[in-house]
Amino acid sequence: MSSKIIVIGAGVVGAASALALQKSGHDVILVDRSEPCSGASFGNAGAIVNGSCLPTATPDILSDVASMITQKHSPLFIKPSYLHRIFPWLVRFVLQGRTTKFNQNAFDLHALSKNAVDSWQLLTDKNELSKLFKDTGWLKVYESENTFNKTARSREMFDKMGTKYELLDSDAIRDLEPNLAPIYKHGFYQKDCLSVTNPQKLVEGMVKLLVTQGGQYQKFDVAEIKTNGDKVYLNGINGSINADKVVVASGAWSRNLAKQMGDNIPLDTERGYHIMLPSLGADLLNRPVVNAEYSFVLSPMETGLRMTSQVELAGLNAKPNYDRIRRLLPLAKSMLPELELREESVWMGFRPSLPDSLPVIGFSSRSNKVFYAFGHQHLGMTLAAVTGFMVADMLNGKTSEIDACPYRPTRFNRW
Ligand SMILES: Cc1cc2nc3c(=O)[nH]c(=O)nc-3n(C[C@H](O)[C@H](O)[C@H](O)COP(=O)(O)OP(=O)(O)OC[C@H]3O[C@@H](n4cnc5c(N)ncnc54)[C@H](O)[C@@H]3O)c2cc1C
Repeated sequence: MSSKIIVIGAGVVGAASALALQKSGHDVILVDRSEPCSGASFGNAGAIVNGSCLPTATPDILSDVASMITQKHSPLFIKPSYLHRIFPWLVRFVLQGRTTKFNQNAFDLHALSKNAVDSWQLLTDKNELSKLFKDTGWLKVYESENTFNKTARSREMFDKMGTKYELLDSDAIRDLEPNLAPIYKHGFYQKDCLSVTNPQKLVEGMVKLLVTQGGQYQKFDVAEIKTNGDKVYLNGINGSINADKVVVASGAWSRNLAKQMGDNIPLDTERGYHIMLPSLGADLLNRPVVNAEYSFVLSPMETGLRMTSQVELAGLNAKPNYDRIRRLLPLAKSMLPELELREESVWMGFRPSLPDSLPVIGFSSRSNKVFYAFGHQHLGMTLAAVTGFMVADMLNGKTSEIDACPYRPTRFNRW
């Protein structure tokens, strides 16, 4: 039966959920307090990493963090004044690195990501949006034997999960990416990954498609969520709107809305940065390339070469510190010697992250009319379409093809 459903949040996860719900026959209204794609979905590296299965918390997390924060170009920063706020999250995060948890989280992440490419193809089938996806693969390059050897555990996990990859020597890396400096000894290549050369265009296109097909987009800042009888009411300074069902897909800002529905979910944010370099730089690479030593990505985009990096634990309110990404520019140059280091724009965004690196996909505790789809951390582009189909299945009362239990909102209730 068709219902009126409001999706809160026009990032990639909300837009994918809205389209999947519309595909299954619902009357969908997508709302956002701002323009579509103004959150984390705007500035990511655009990689659809099929079969991704590495949770951030690993059994080596404590030693990794210790060595990272002492590095000159550390990819991790914890703002001292935010430490007391994020401390409980950090404790949970470290506990998720225990071997049994790590293995389970990897399995549950893989259960979502193994269908990433197929799900995007299904969602964008027979429409113009499919043209924004490029069949590029995803390449990680290693300068030192040491870094390569230290990541053996991650390759073991890929083997265990059956995620396909190729190991490349320096000649094979040069064949794929002739403009890279000839300093990389090892490459890790996942051929069946896609990349999106303009994430903003993709999400805006999804919203346009929703509207063309009879859905609605409305600017609305949701301050309060309440159920009353058969309806869910959303209140904001612009008034009140209501629907039969609501999906909370508000990225890093979802915690407060979930709390109003009785769920105290340990959602925090891993802030990340990007810097755009001139468009000529984008011609220097054929695909997104990860620098394994310094944990940054160079992604060729329609609008230029995008360098993304950093995990900054500083909450939703602290001002961005763009120097975190600017100081990595010389490293980009040593990777791509022909690169022109002219900053065209710089950006910071909020990855919505839970301690176990898994999203929350499931009904609120208080009402089966309110559904959550948030917390996609480093993989929201990858997992948005898969999530959208799960949202639609579960709101339609069907059992989702992917077991949804590992992503249930109540999984943190006991600790
Ligand atoms: C530097 C960087 C690089 C990344 N690279 C990749 C990558 O290559 N591949 C990948 O898979 N993932 C990547 N990610 C992760 C990915 O970008 C995120 O996981 C994803 O964008 C999250 O999407 P979302 O829709 O949940 O949240 P968002 O895009 O943040 O959208 C949430 C929306 O909700 C709206 N909203 C919030 N609160 C309210 C409210 N109360 N009322 C109304 N609207 C509200 C916001 O305005 C916003 O538009 C990267 C992230 C970063 C930061």
